[in-house]
Amino acid sequence: MEYVLTVNSLYKSYGNFKALGGLNMRVPKGAIYGLIGKNGAGKTTLIRIICGLQNPSLGCYTLYGIGSHSSKIVKARRRMGAVVETPSIYLDMSAEENLKEQYRVLGLPSFEGINELLELVGLESTGKKKAKNFSLGMRQRLGIAIALCGDPDFLVLDEPVNGLDPQGIVEIRELILRLNREKNITVLISSHILSELSKLATHYGFIDGGRMIKELSAEELDAACRKCMRIEVTNAPALARVLDGMGVEYKILSETEADVFAKLNVTVLTNALTAEDCELVSVTERDESLESYYINLVGGN
Ligand code: ATP
Repeated sequence: MEYVLTVNSLYKSYGNFKALGGLNMRVPKGAIYGLIGKNGAGKTTLIRIICGLQNPSLGCYTLYGIGSHSSKIVKARRRMGAVVETPSIYLDMSAEENLKEQYRVLGLPSFEGINELLELVGLESTGKKKAKNFSLGMRQRLGIAIALCGDPDFLVLDEPVNGLDPQGIVEIRELILRLNREKNITVLISSHILSELSKLATHYGFIDGGRMIKELSAEELDAACRKCMRIEVTNAPALARVLDGMGVEYKILSETEADVFAKLNVTVLTNALTAEDCELVSVTERDESLESYYINLVGGN
């Protein structure tokens, strides 16, 4: 497998406090890598080091195979765009002016591609409106557009949905998926909300106390914590008879509810229940097992 980023036994101390304690990590090319950890786990510290904003105390990393101690790392880092903590935007400028400014900073020869970038992040109709009048979600998307100037193929986003409303969260999620699928951009995204990352990540890294506790792919995580469907009916014994007939695994929770550990065809289930004189009230996919997997790994709340 080809890796865009590998981190090898990285340490970072602030005085006596160890923010990173020998962290290892591998981000495969083409992945949406979700870096999950509680507040204070070390996510921002790690990201700041990879972005060259901070030096590690010990250890190294490679970007596109180039070691962090090599003089070529600066060039390798040009293939990477990042939004760390809050997006660095000029609030008194429009979206377009912000992008032009970033093009100048990067020394790009022309403003070609700016309209495409604005369209990509859904800010093409903001005209002369200044960034200070943007919603938080729009500012975050502008931050991503700025990070995309210079055509990087690795995008690093530190807690990009923090503080966003549900609509803003969906927009960022869809943008990240588009960048990954249509532009083949590898994405590293940090969050403390596993359920949010689970909607887009192809790989996960669980970090706690400055160390990587576990790295695994989305398929491996799915297998490790079976998804279940919570089914509500008017008569649980009738549901049990139907599920027995289907040969699937389930757990009756109450007179009206059961968790089923299999993907069911809802039409087939409804018909079978009707034959048992039982009504299907609701079917909900449950993510709790994902959360409990996380909590079991890192402990605490
Ligand atoms: P959050 O989601 O809260 O930002 P995080 O996982 O990004 O958490 P970091 O910001 O990397 O965590 O911080 C890791 C630890 O290092 C925290 O305990 C933090 O208080 C500490 N820390 C970070 N920066 C400094 C600093 N400049 N000086 C001292 N301690 C620091």
